[in-house]
Amino acid sequence: MAELTDQELERYARHIVLPRFGGAGQNALKAASVAIVGAGGIGSGAIPALAAAGIGQLTIIDDDIVDRSNLQRQPIFRDDQVGGGKAGLAAAFAMAVNPYVEASPRERRIDPANAAELLAGHDLVLDGSDNFATRLAVSDACVGLGIPLVSAAAVQLQGQVGLFRGRPCFRCFVGDAFDSDDCDNCSELGVLGPLPLTIGGFAALLAIRALTGMGDDAGTLHLLDADRLSWRAIPLPADPGCRTCGALARSG
Ligand SMILES: [Zn+2]
Repeated sequence: MAELTDQELERYARHIVLPRFGGAGQNALKAASVAIVGAGGIGSGAIPALAAAGIGQLTIIDDDIVDRSNLQRQPIFRDDQVGGGKAGLAAAFAMAVNPYVEASPRERRIDPANAAELLAGHDLVLDGSDNFATRLAVSDACVGLGIPLVSAAAVQLQGQVGLFRGRPCFRCFVGDAFDSDDCDNCSELGVLGPLPLTIGGFAALLAIRALTGMGDDAGTLHLLDADRLSWRAIPLPADPGCRTCGALARSG
């Protein structure tokens, strides 16, 4: 494994002094490759956190362009970038935050046909996409590839985020009814700006804990009610009939 340079040791000093993290944790982040699906509100919380923390390789997947109505919750984009491609702008943002990060944009929309090809080779996937069809395609691919998934969502005043590793999977949680649902929740229902940033930051925390072995958080969904200002953690049971991860139960 490559040694951390003097500049990196200085940059990550507040990580390296942390008990249960240390140089080993920082090296694990530097060696890690994370795919981020969606450079929207969740991505705007997660991408700065992951880049600053020193994830070595980030792949940012989004086929959208910056719309003026995004700016209320997506502070990684500036007013003068309206109309620009989100994936490329977000990757440039990440590398400007931290020159030790290699960020690669993929201007693609993930679907069941291309998800495995786009996500293969990563150590973890962080999904902050805005619709169930994409989330299910990403989850199915992660189960098939054996890649841990942090799935995060926020709408109106409600946020949810959890780590999925094999079984139970995201499909156990939502079922099969939403594969054709590709509507943009935020445009129809609204969302309070800091909520997706909070959920995206929490998603980055789960990702870093998983990549450094700080905790095994799989199988629990964390819910933030931004109206009552309360967090709840609920265990997610595996669906015995899940068409995606059910095979994992039968094979082992
Ligand atoms: Zn499942």
